Amino acid sequence: LKDKLQTLAHLPAQTSDGVDFQLAANISSVKELDQVLKNGASSVGLFRTEFVYMDRDSLPLEEEQFEIYRQVAEKMAGNRVVIRTLDIGGDKSLDYIELPEEDNPSLGYRAIRISLDRTDLFKTQLRAILRASHYGNIKILYPMISSLEELRKANDVLETAKRELREQGMPFQEEIEVGIMIEVPAAVIIADLLAEKVDFFSIGTNDLVQYILAVDRMNETVAHLYDPFHPAVLRMLKSTVEAARSANIHVSVCGELAGDIRALPIWIGLGITELSMSVQSILRVKNSLLQSRFSEGAGIWSELLRCANSKDVMEVLNRHLRQDV
Ligand code: PEP
Ligand code: MG
Repeated sequence: LKDKLQTLAHLPAQTSDGVDFQLAANISSVKELDQVLKNGASSVGLFRTEFVYMDRDSLPLEEEQFEIYRQVAEKMAGNRVVIRTLDIGGDKSLDYIELPEEDNPSLGYRAIRISLDRTDLFKTQLRAILRASHYGNIKILYPMISSLEELRKANDVLETAKRELREQGMPFQEEIEVGIMIEVPAAVIIADLLAEKVDFFSIGTNDLVQYILAVDRMNETVAHLYDPFHPAVLRMLKSTVEAARSANIHVSVCGELAGDIRALPIWIGLGITELSMSVQSILRVKNSLLQSRFSEGAGIWSELLRCANSKDVMEVLNRHLRQDV
């Protein structure tokens, strides 16, 4: 099977009725790029930059970060590279930034909340990303956005970083696209408002499922309740996509569910054609995609909406899954 899958690496990612997909990679370091290219990923859909900050004893300098982001942009040679700003807190900690002891870290001081509190650190990162944007096709992604206010504040810091670089005569992509992770239910509910202010949405199903269902994604005691196929999740996905469509912005998925072949009929049903996933999943998803028909999408979705529980959802998905080797 592994050999068979490897032969798919250079085929275009498209359905059997000819609709093109972008199968992108989630990465956390430059080292992974060889695997990304080997597996035929079209782009980097999520660069988790927290790993640039981890395993060291002080904050990475602007120059160090710039080098890393530039290398990724150059290696991807003009293909999209979506760089997510720092997402620590929750399950990820840093020794040299003091994070409070919290009873509920995933509901606490994390991601954009830290960046907006520590704008010094945030601006340094944005300057590094902006400078790297001169060397490739970089887009900026903010994690854990739950209000327009947070988006506005983040964009204010971005504007300051841009102004500084202009004054210093440092080149960057002026029209760099800015998107947000959709991973908090509040963002789904105001997705129409957020969509007017950003260039794209990236749906983060790992956190979105955790917050929709109130099930800690790291807690084994309740792991059986962590259910990405719950009808509530499907409805949230659908309303996110509808808001993005109405505002005419791009929407993709970058949580683990994007790399789960069982979920492929969901994306086809929603008309989502960009999926970003761990490198190991790309060829398996491509194999299934090549055998799927995009024209079945509308039918799939009307069946999914009639499902009252995840068992029924799984039954519909199984019937539509194409994965013969
Ligand atoms: C997500 O929440 O789905 C996501 C992609 O981000 P992370 O797993 O890094 O929280
Ligand atoms: Mg997340």
